[in-house]
Amino acid sequence: MTSRYLSLILSIYISDNPLPVPLNWDPMLPPMKYCSSCGETLNRRIPGDDNRERWVCDHCDTVHYQNPIIVVGCVAEKDGRILLCKRAIEPRHGYWTVPAGFMELGESLAAGAARETLEEACAEIEIGHLFASVDVIHAGQVHLFFTGTLAGDYGVGEESLETRLYSEDEIPWDDLAFPSGRFALQKYFEDQGQNNGVHTLVWKK
Ligand code: ZN
Repeated sequence: MTSRYLSLILSIYISDNPLPVPLNWDPMLPPMKYCSSCGETLNRRIPGDDNRERWVCDHCDTVHYQNPIIVVGCVAEKDGRILLCKRAIEPRHGYWTVPAGFMELGESLAAGAARETLEEACAEIEIGHLFASVDVIHAGQVHLFFTGTLAGDYGVGEESLETRLYSEDEIPWDDLAFPSGRFALQKYFEDQGQNNGVHTLVWKK
């Protein structure tokens, strides 16, 4: 463990930060080192008019905010079966997942879910409704899942080793990549095609 990480961890535990620090947040998240505005070294402190520590440039006063990242995915169905992808990348190489990935700037949640399905499974889908939300606090992420219907055929995208359609009783529950995808699949089957709003989960490590 580098001293940089250690000092970050210590700053979390001994800070006089007036707000409670989420202790299950992973302090190994990459800390920031240099200011993207001026290139000087960043420091950890509470900016004026703020209430928690941030990465701050003492040279140009830029505050570098870090906020949760959105992952968006889709449980896509065709003829009663669900499209899953076997991951060709880490983390969880070789495990199965619903198509999902980081949302891009300039797109909507639904467009992101459709894009990820196209990239990972070469499949065009008709997006349904948002039905599952998972707070992945230790990773600084929020995972959001839509229902979807395959519009046509599917294939194997660059980030996948294999893709295929699974009926509910064929789902490889023991070989799923992530708890958030597992939650989405469970709720999808429980909903039985109905829109029962958004199911929520806080994924605690
Ligand atoms: Zn700067």
